[in-house]
Amino acid sequence: MASDNVPLNGEGPALELRDVEVVYERRGRERVRAVAGASLTVERGQIVGLVGESGCGKSSLARASVGLVPAAGGSVLFESREVTPLTRRARPRELARLQMVFQNPYSSLNPRRRIGSQLADALDVLDLAAPRERRARVEELLDLVGLPASAAARYPHQFSGGQRQRIAVARALAADPSVLVLDEPLASLDASAQAQVANLLVDLSRRLSLSLLLISHDLAIVRHVADVVSVMYLGVMVETGPARSLWSLPLHPYTEALIGAVPHPDGSGFLPEALPGEVPDPAHPPAACRFHPRCPYAFDRCSKETPVTLAIESERTVACWLQAGGSPPARPGERPQPLPLLHAEE
Ligand code: SF4
Repeated sequence: MASDNVPLNGEGPALELRDVEVVYERRGRERVRAVAGASLTVERGQIVGLVGESGCGKSSLARASVGLVPAAGGSVLFESREVTPLTRRARPRELARLQMVFQNPYSSLNPRRRIGSQLADALDVLDLAAPRERRARVEELLDLVGLPASAAARYPHQFSGGQRQRIAVARALAADPSVLVLDEPLASLDASAQAQVANLLVDLSRRLSLSLLLISHDLAIVRHVADVVSVMYLGVMVETGPARSLWSLPLHPYTEALIGAVPHPDGSGFLPEALPGEVPDPAHPPAACRFHPRCPYAFDRCSKETPVTLAIESERTVACWLQAGGSPPARPGERPQPLPLLHAEE
C-alpha cells in the first residue's frame, strides 16, 4: 500500500509523545490533570502496549496523540515532525496516516449504511481512490482484515462483534496509515474474538510495517501482542520495557501488582490482594509518588519526593525510589534487587 499523502521520513520513531498533558474542567470549576506529563515512543513497525487501570489516563493520552483532545502541554511528534497543536480540522491530510480505532465498533459504524459505502467514504474523504478503483480497493481492505468481498453489501448489524471490529480496522486502513492508535479495541469482544482480532493486529503490523499503540487494561492480551509495554498510573508513566522482560521481572510495584492480578488459566498465580484500593481521583492526586498510598513497599521518601524516571538496562525505564537505591522495602526479600542504573532521565 503506497501512499502519496505525506513524504515518509525514514528517520526516527513513528510516534513520540513527550511530556504530554491533558487537562479537563470538571463541573466548570475544577481542573483535572488526566495526563500529567507522560512520554512514550513507538518505533517504526513496533507494537507498544499501554496498560493501566481504568481512570489512569491512558485513553486521554491516546486521544491527545491523534488530536481528538487538545494537549495542554508537551508535544506529539509524528514521523519525527512536531504536530502539536494538533487538530484534524487543521491538518486532515497530514494526520490521515495517524489513525485511531475505538473500543465499540458498533457505535463507530453507521448502522444504516452498507459496509462497502462506509469504506468507500473513507477513501473519498482523502481522495485516495479514483471512482473506478474504489470497489477493488474496498475488497482489498476487506481481504486485509479477513472478510470476504461479499461483506461490502451487508450492514453492521449483520456481523458479529469481532467482525465489526475488523471492519473498523479496515476503515482505518483505508487512509493507508503508518500508525494505528487502538483504544481498548478488544474490550467489548468475547474471548475467542479477542484472540482472533489480536492475532490480526499482529499480522497487519508485520505485513504492512504498521506501528501500533495498543491501549488496554488487559495485561494478558498486551503481553501476547506487544513488543514493548508502558505502564501508566494516575496520569504518569511509571515503567516501560520490552514485554518479555517487564513481565518476567517487573521493576515498579504497580507493574508487579498488575501482573499479580492477572488470573492464570489454570487458576495458579492469581494474587487477589495484589492491587488494593482504587485509583485516586486525578483532581486530587497523592503527593510525590502517586502510587504511595497503595504501595506495599512505600517508605519515607515516597510521600515527600516525586520519583525521577531512571533508565535501567538498555531499554527499560522506571519511576520508583526503590530502583534508585532507596531505603529497604517494607517487606524485605520480596522485591528483586535494584538493577544496574544507567542514568536519570531529564
Ligand atoms: Fe512504592 Fe515508593 Fe516506588 Fe512509589 S517510589 S512505587 S511508593 S516504593
